[in-house]
Amino acid sequence: MVAPPTLTDLGHDIHFLALIESLPIAIYTCDERGIITHFNAAAVDLWGREPEKGVDQWTGAWKMFRLNGKPLPPEECPMALTLKERKEINSDEIIIERPDGTRRFIKANPRSIIDTTGNFAGAVSMLIDVTGTKVIDEERERLAAIIQGSGDAIISKTLDGIITSWNPAAEKLFGYTEEEMIGQTIMTLIPAELSDEEPAIIGRLRKGERVEHFETKRLTKSGELLDISLTISPIRNSKGIIIGASKIARDITTQKRLNEALRESDERLRMAIQATNLGTWEFQPNTGKLTWSEECRSLFNIPVDLNIDYQFFSKHVVPEDAAFVETEIQKALDYSGTRELNIEYRIRRSGDGLIRWVRSQGRTYFNDQNQADRFIGTILDITQQKNEELALKDSLELFQTMADNVPAMIWMSGSDKFNDYINKTWLEFRGRSGKQESNNGWLEGVHPEDKEKCIEVYRSALEHQNGFYTEYRLLRFDGLYRWIADNCVPRLSPTGEFAGFISACIDITDLKTMEQRKDDFIKMASHELKTPITSIKGYVQLLLSIYEEMNEDKLRSSQITVKSSLTTVSKQVSKLTRLISDLLDMSRIESGKLELSYSEFDPVLLVEETVQDVRHTTSRHTLVIHNKFEGALQADRDRIAQVMLNLLTNAIKYSPSANIIDVYISGDENSIAISVADYGIGIDKSDQQRIFERFYRVEGKNELTYPGFGIGLFISNEIIQRHNGTIHVKSEKDKGTVFTFTLPLMKENNVNE
Ligand code: ADP
Repeated sequence: MVAPPTLTDLGHDIHFLALIESLPIAIYTCDERGIITHFNAAAVDLWGREPEKGVDQWTGAWKMFRLNGKPLPPEECPMALTLKERKEINSDEIIIERPDGTRRFIKANPRSIIDTTGNFAGAVSMLIDVTGTKVIDEERERLAAIIQGSGDAIISKTLDGIITSWNPAAEKLFGYTEEEMIGQTIMTLIPAELSDEEPAIIGRLRKGERVEHFETKRLTKSGELLDISLTISPIRNSKGIIIGASKIARDITTQKRLNEALRESDERLRMAIQATNLGTWEFQPNTGKLTWSEECRSLFNIPVDLNIDYQFFSKHVVPEDAAFVETEIQKALDYSGTRELNIEYRIRRSGDGLIRWVRSQGRTYFNDQNQADRFIGTILDITQQKNEELALKDSLELFQTMADNVPAMIWMSGSDKFNDYINKTWLEFRGRSGKQESNNGWLEGVHPEDKEKCIEVYRSALEHQNGFYTEYRLLRFDGLYRWIADNCVPRLSPTGEFAGFISACIDITDLKTMEQRKDDFIKMASHELKTPITSIKGYVQLLLSIYEEMNEDKLRSSQITVKSSLTTVSKQVSKLTRLISDLLDMSRIESGKLELSYSEFDPVLLVEETVQDVRHTTSRHTLVIHNKFEGALQADRDRIAQVMLNLLTNAIKYSPSANIIDVYISGDENSIAISVADYGIGIDKSDQQRIFERFYRVEGKNELTYPGFGIGLFISNEIIQRHNGTIHVKSEKDKGTVFTFTLPLMKENNVNE
């Protein structure tokens, strides 16, 4: 340590003062209270002001700051601390600010002054301006920080290619650490096939040239080849001689790939646009400029060089769509609107005037003031697609109309289990809405005994994706259960996949009843045929045994038996004949082969004859004819007799408690009407229309006891119809029945071919 200067050494020696004054280093002294006693010109220079001797305390500086930027009060400055603590202070750097605002970094090292008597007499301080070194240091640090923190690899090398610095980004990019690379040759990074690149670069550097954005390839430690952009600058020493180079390497592999991908996708997009004939357009609302691509122009059928504007475009939109198109475009151009366009409309092409369906899609780009700047988009001809859509819609509507109007009840389902379409006929049958019936709502109407079967059939059909036929009872709007035949087939999508089911259902209740009636008929017919045959067989055996005995006396005594037996046999044979001829007639009617054999006859006579025949069969009833007709009738006499017989036998059969049957004949010059009236059990209103149907027999506890096949009236009706006549019934339950048939008198009027 240097011994503190004595007062004799400082301040009181004129030469010494002159020396201090001339020193290029700032020096000042303070007394023990800190009042400035001396300072030299260098100090004034440094402070940028001249302190007042005997007044300024601690320092001559205008303002002082610590390195951290906080103000440093004068009483805490190194001089003040030395004086207060009376010891040597090795102060940190401090910053002083001059009145003109400039700042200097200084290092102060005040020393105490001990007078000749050994007393403390103040302090002297040397202020060393370290600003210069400070800036260089800072600069270097900043640079180093930049290099260290740079995302680009920064490498420096000598002109021989020996690496002298290697930043973390270089480490990351090439995979080598700083230790591995410093002192190594740059050739490590250069692929063999590019080895002559380096001498060329060095050559240019030697000439002081900078190599900028040189795109090449470099090897990483793992052997990967990178696309690199290099910027190489020469490094000169303080004398300006080139001693090396700094290199900034940027990995452009990703960028290159991106560019490549972008180019490819651009290309693909261009090709796609060409392939689809997608037109592109751009509209600048503020200039009114409209630009159309070639495809756009060919869609509108206009030449490539024709100048167009917005009006031109709107003129080509068909009038029906114009308002809609305009509104949508305005919404797209409005910052607070949709900002986007996606519409389908029709245009009328220039020249040929063809109407085309187009789809326009676009987006608006807005400027800083939220005004529409550019409105860019595409246009596509969708005529074909639209026509197909419309055709599909039409065919769907047609299907719907058809499906709603067919008498069958139709339902359709998707591949899930819900019905998604139910036709009008179904809904009318059920008297319910589509909403009520869909989603298995219809199942509510299925008869409880059939419901489980229905669900199972449907479930299994869904599982196997195949159709089915099933029968179940379904509640009709009037509260009656009706038998439904459900004939269901799977639906296939256009691509052949299972798409659900479609089914046509018909009410088969009547059919089922008819089947039932047929069964009953067969049972009854077998019985009716068997009874006379058994009876005939019995009597024939009896007659045979009488004949075999051949004894005169016996024969005489058997006369009564023989007569009654033969009568019975005859009766039974006629019954059989009638039955068989009825059956034959029915099958003739069914096959359309019931032929009429016309002749002219007196109808009154015919009525009398049949009434007479019937009178033999009943002892209870009196048959009375009331005739008001006179004339001839052209018809099939036997067939009309058959009708009369049927009406008369029915009248007798169904009026067991009555004893009169009236037959009325009336007519005019054109027609004749014949009625048979009885006073029997009568026919319920609901049955009156149906009794003319095949096998129809009124069901009820009383009627069951009457034998019959339910085909007599069916045949009678057919016979009258074939004569172009009419037959109808008037009846009241338990009061009686009147059957009336009318016939035209002349054949030419009554042949119903
Ligand atoms: P059936 O052989 O059963 O008499 P029809 O076809 O002649 O067959 O008659 C059909 C049904 O019409 C009969 O079963 C009966 O119920 C009813 N019917 C026919 N005529 C009369 C009548 N005069 N009075 C009451 N019911 C009648």
